[in-house]
Amino acid sequence: MAILIVEDEKKLVDILKRALKAERYSVDAAYDGEEGLAKAIKNNYSLIILDILLPKKDGFAVCRELRARHIHTPIIMLTARGGTDDRVAGLDAGADDYLIKPFGITELFARIRAVLRRRKTTDATIAKIADLLMDKRKHEVTRAGKVVILTPKEYKLLDVLLSNPGEAVTRRKLIDHAWGPEFKEANNELNVHINYLRTKIGKGRKKPLIYTVRGVGFVLKE
Ligand code: CA
Repeated sequence: MAILIVEDEKKLVDILKRALKAERYSVDAAYDGEEGLAKAIKNNYSLIILDILLPKKDGFAVCRELRARHIHTPIIMLTARGGTDDRVAGLDAGADDYLIKPFGITELFARIRAVLRRRKTTDATIAKIADLLMDKRKHEVTRAGKVVILTPKEYKLLDVLLSNPGEAVTRRKLIDHAWGPEFKEANNELNVHINYLRTKIGKGRKKPLIYTVRGVGFVLKE
């Protein structure tokens, strides 16, 4: 399992490399954003550990560019202490999780395992219900053969719902997947994004596929 570390603090890179290698991960490193982006595009990593403050291109930009290129390698972002905005921005840019510096190695390992596990459980290549189809390799959603353009958040929400067809999925589970476990809703964000998603996949159709389960969350069913 190969991990890419993108971090300009050489000392930290060395520590991480040693620790990860001891856990039998193979490790590659890049010391600025451009190098990191190039490596992440060229090679197939299982996971990327991405610092935010980097020379040449910051971690947000690297993350956004990877996601825009449909490269969905799990990303754990490293943020500075107290940088709440950074965390939100990182998750918005498409990161899977974040760690606040300084962090302990055991915490890093726990996050890596969690991210990889999460990725695995939602990793069937094609998911479908009725004529709605999600191709995870192409990162493409179609309804009756027509491509539906979704934002990264909408895609993640649909991904969870499609992984549990016919089951009520709790609000917390949806939020965890799309925003991250520490996200607290302030403005009904989940409903807003679910409504966008509903409109996009239900365009011109009588029956919606996404239903509200009062007091619980949402369900995707025919
Ligand atoms: Ca840095």
